[in-house]
Amino acid sequence: MSETSTIERRGLLLVLSSPSGAGKTTLARRLIEADADISMSVSVTTRKARPGEVDGRDYTFVDEATFRRMAENNQLLEWARVFDNCYGTPRAPVEAAIGKGHDVLFDIDWQGAQQLSEKMKHDVVRVFILPPSAASLEERLRARAQDPDEVVRRRMDEAAAEISHWPEYDYVIVNTDLTRSMEGLTAILTAERLRRERLNGLTAFVRDMQSQL
Ligand code: 5GP
Repeated sequence: MSETSTIERRGLLLVLSSPSGAGKTTLARRLIEADADISMSVSVTTRKARPGEVDGRDYTFVDEATFRRMAENNQLLEWARVFDNCYGTPRAPVEAAIGKGHDVLFDIDWQGAQQLSEKMKHDVVRVFILPPSAASLEERLRARAQDPDEVVRRRMDEAAAEISHWPEYDYVIVNTDLTRSMEGLTAILTAERLRRERLNGLTAFVRDMQSQL
C-alpha cells in the first residue's frame, strides 16, 4: 500500500518510447502485470495484425476510413503515421482513467509523446528506453522472424531516427538488464505518483490534520 493511498490523486500518463526492439513491450507488459493501478492504453492502428496479436488487446485494428473518421471526430488524443501505417490513442478511456486516479501506460512513438505533452503537460511522464548497443538492437530485430530482411533494415533506420529524440524525455533507461530496468521504471512511477501537484486531496487531508492538532 502506498503512503498516499488515502489521499485522492489525479492519474498520470506514463509514456514509454523506444526504437522497436529495445524491449519496451516486455517492460510495459511486466509493469501492467505487477501494478493494478496502471493499465495499458490500447491504440488503434491501420496496420495488419501480426501472428499472435489479439484485436482489442494489443491494438484495435481498423481500416484507413475508420481511422480517418476517428481523427476527424476528435476521438483521438494524438495520432501519427509510423512506417506506412497510422497509429492513434483513443481519447475517452484515458480521460476516464485519470479522472478516477488511475494511471495509463502508453507504448507510443516520439510524435505521440510530443502531442500528449502539448495537450496534457502536467499529467505526462515520459520515459525513453534505449537498447544497450546498436548490435543488440539489430539482433533483437532479426530475432523477430516474422519481419523480412528489408523490414529489419528499415526498422534500423527508423530506430536511428527515434533515438534522436531521447532529449525530449524526462527519464532515459538503458535496457541492459530487464530486472534492473523494471526496478528503474517502478521507481519512476512511485516517485511521480507522490508528486504534490498530483495529490489533489492533499489540501483537505492537511487541513483536517491541522484542525486536530
Ligand atoms: P508496431 O507496429 O511495432 O506495433 O509499432 C510501431 C511504432 O508505433 C512503435 O514505436 C509504437 O510505439 C508506435 N505506436 C503504437 N501505438 C501508437 C499510438 O497510438 N500513437 C503513436 N504516436 N505511436 C504509436
